[in-house]
Amino acid sequence: MNLLYKSTRNAQHMVTASEAILKGLAEDGGLFVPVSVPKLDVSMEELKEMSYQETAYAVMKQFLTDFTEEELKSCIESAYDSKFDTEVIAPLVKVGDTYHLELFHGATIAFKDMALSILPHLLTTSAKKNHVTHDIVILTATSGDTGKAALAGFADVPGTRIIVFYPKNGVSRVQELQMVTQKGDNTAVVAIHGNFDNAQTGVKALFEDKELEQELAERGYQFSSANSINIGRLVPQVVYYVYAYAKLLQNEEISQDEKINVTVPTGNFGNILAAYYAKQMGVPIEKLICASNENKVLFDFFKTGTYDKNREFVLTSSPSMDILISSNLERLIYTIAGADAKKNQELMAALKTEGKYEITREMKAQLSDFEGGFATEEDTRAAIRDTYNSTGYVMDPHTAVASHVCRAYRESSGDHTKTLVASTASPYKFVKSVMTAIDGKYESKDEFALIDELEKLSGTPVPHAIEELQNAQILHTRECDTDQMKETVKEILGI
Ligand SMILES: *Cc1c(COP(=O)(O)O)cnc(C)c1O
Repeated sequence: MNLLYKSTRNAQHMVTASEAILKGLAEDGGLFVPVSVPKLDVSMEELKEMSYQETAYAVMKQFLTDFTEEELKSCIESAYDSKFDTEVIAPLVKVGDTYHLELFHGATIAFKDMALSILPHLLTTSAKKNHVTHDIVILTATSGDTGKAALAGFADVPGTRIIVFYPKNGVSRVQELQMVTQKGDNTAVVAIHGNFDNAQTGVKALFEDKELEQELAERGYQFSSANSINIGRLVPQVVYYVYAYAKLLQNEEISQDEKINVTVPTGNFGNILAAYYAKQMGVPIEKLICASNENKVLFDFFKTGTYDKNREFVLTSSPSMDILISSNLERLIYTIAGADAKKNQELMAALKTEGKYEITREMKAQLSDFEGGFATEEDTRAAIRDTYNSTGYVMDPHTAVASHVCRAYRESSGDHTKTLVASTASPYKFVKSVMTAIDGKYESKDEFALIDELEKLSGTPVPHAIEELQNAQILHTRECDTDQMKETVKEILGI
């Protein structure tokens, strides 16, 4: 039987997985959720022996039931190949008393590659299955990493165009260079004069713009989204939690059925939601520890039950988590509201008009799987420095936020359950923040000079993605104000 998906804002409308992937966002502005989270139908004993690709198939076939075996396997093979610099795709590394799941071995050295290397294949397969003849225009807002990973995934994929909006002063130098040097005739990159939330809100408004949709259709285009609201992004992220658990078991780090905690550095709530789905599929996960930086709207939410974005937006050294509206949280809200689309709709309307909402006591009672924590900038730097000094392992600022929160949680709760830390970016991507956290003497040095220093210090070779940046040509220089995004899109598409 097919697993169907429905919108978090409308109980009636149901679509197949491939339709949900094609649409990205539901027409009512809601997010697609599976009617129920499927269970794994293979045992941990079997999973233990599986490669990443085999695990991906075992997990994804449960969610994407309208894909044939051949289609899904072909998507998986095209995605998880030599673009990754390790055959295991997502290595587990023991760092002190935690296990880091390194999700940054793909083309753009951040965890977005895990989903965005497969999304173009899922999307073009979905288009074929649904007899779509229009070109698909991927419209994406990025806080830094999604943009490059989506550009790399979609560059020169026939039948697609991709337009990425990023906050002009809100991404790292390496992140910006990675985007503006992107090759591919179907790619466009635009710096907006605003922050990530402005970019994301602008993109959402374009998706909901019926007039624009009509104009696009007349020119043979239709929008889709590569943001983590697309279930084609979410589902591939469930895979690595299943994989990590099975590998911990295989390496005899844990015993059969032993529960683990998972700590995830969180922004848009996609990655941690995938861990929650993995738990619901049957992976023995106890706590999901949601780690925020100084934009700690999620920490406050888990503590108080009130989500309140009315606060100062802080630019931190973990820019991919500088987010005040965590889009994917809507899926969790919907779930804890008892799949009540109307209740969810009310809360989201309040978020839109007042910038906040409060969940009921019954809803809050269902959040016991989650723990919230946050790291200040000083905590983040200290985590990088202390971990380097005690283990020699160098981590990026996003991972360091999680590492700090994980340690603080252990100390305050006395819960010493074995813990997986989602390690979301290569330290090379944020080399300046990382090196100055380790030693203030690097403050005055230029970002590229620090790359060699980091190589010496960490003993891990400079990733290819960084090497190729050194001589890459700038190909994108477009900028726009936040109220000019629609015109900019039309200009790029020649409408
Ligand atoms: C996107 C990103 C995150 C946040 O992940 P979400 O799924 O948005 O919560 C954390 N770290 C890095 C490096 C990222 O790129």
